[in-house]
Amino acid sequence: MKSPITVSVTGGAGQVAYGLLFRLVNGEVFGADQPVSLIIKEVPQFVSKLEGVKMELEDCAFPTLHTVTITDNDEDAFRGANWALLVGAAPRGPGMERKDLLTMNGASFRDQGHAINKTAADDIRIVVVGNPCNTNCLIAMRHAPDVPRDRFSALTRLDQNRAMAQLAQKAGVQVADVTNVAIWGNHSSTQYPDFENARIGGKPAPDVIGDRSWLENTFIETVQKRGAAIIAARGTSSAASAANAVLDHVRSAVNKTKSGDWFSAAISSDGNPYGVPDGLIYGFPCRSDGKGDISLVEGVELTDYAKGKLDITTQELLGERSDVSELL
Ligand code: NAD
Repeated sequence: MKSPITVSVTGGAGQVAYGLLFRLVNGEVFGADQPVSLIIKEVPQFVSKLEGVKMELEDCAFPTLHTVTITDNDEDAFRGANWALLVGAAPRGPGMERKDLLTMNGASFRDQGHAINKTAADDIRIVVVGNPCNTNCLIAMRHAPDVPRDRFSALTRLDQNRAMAQLAQKAGVQVADVTNVAIWGNHSSTQYPDFENARIGGKPAPDVIGDRSWLENTFIETVQKRGAAIIAARGTSSAASAANAVLDHVRSAVNKTKSGDWFSAAISSDGNPYGVPDGLIYGFPCRSDGKGDISLVEGVELTDYAKGKLDITTQELLGERSDVSELL
């Protein structure tokens, strides 16, 4: 066994965390020889629920689970952390406007950024899941000035997985045959799931599917609105698939990306070659060197159609950023 790494998860009493925590420490992400010291954080009124989660984690008797610590304090939550998965966020309350939610959650991501800057390990990597995840990630990043910007990412992997499943179903192939799926922009209904650069069995997806109208309309809308469709059908928001996407995101970061392929993550737009303004956390095609670093893939071709889609999601992210300007 290697020496333990420390992984922090916030929102530990929530439904995504319940789908995430057990698989995070069972060896399937960091390896069967990698012990994990887990720190789970909740807000004070729900921290007692974490006692139950901790008991269940212990009862799994995972050989890779080193210790479990529970806390309601940001500095303790990130102390010595190598990975911080920021899942916790408050849902929109009755009568609350989108801007109120942005500001309320933004303040907690500011505080978490401060705490990460102060107490996390030098090699900390942060994944923001709590919505609006791109802008929350931007806020946390701005308040952790000593942490290199490329350590921060937000989750667009669930959108990528949804897009891959739709393309595979339409083409009548297995999901494993679908590669090079990027989600550009915001994790919201303005995202652009890029079918033009996606590949099925190594060939361009539009050639294999042969139905541009389905791709431009049904496909994009299905992926953009999948979260709402799940709420309508299940009565509650996606949880197991979201947790699975967080695991995929981390797994993609710690394993070298296959030659020629990419995955989707939202990362800093600073210096990007695609004309997206600097200063945003933006979904791009990404690769990993296998050491945890996520970097942007350059040279992906964008048609005028795609550029139009990017403009829409860029405008939304600029609007979110201006709504939280006092927190940046
Ligand atoms: P949930 O309401 O079941 O759980 C959220 C938990 O976070 C609650 O227990 C709450 O007390 C806790 N929390 C709130 N603020 C916190 C803070 N500052 N520190 C620690 N804990 C805090 O929600 P859920 O279904 O588990 O979803 C969690 C978040 O993930 C939501 O914001 C949701 O919108 C988001 N989400 C994102 C994606 C994505 O693809 N990016 C997918 C699914 C869910």
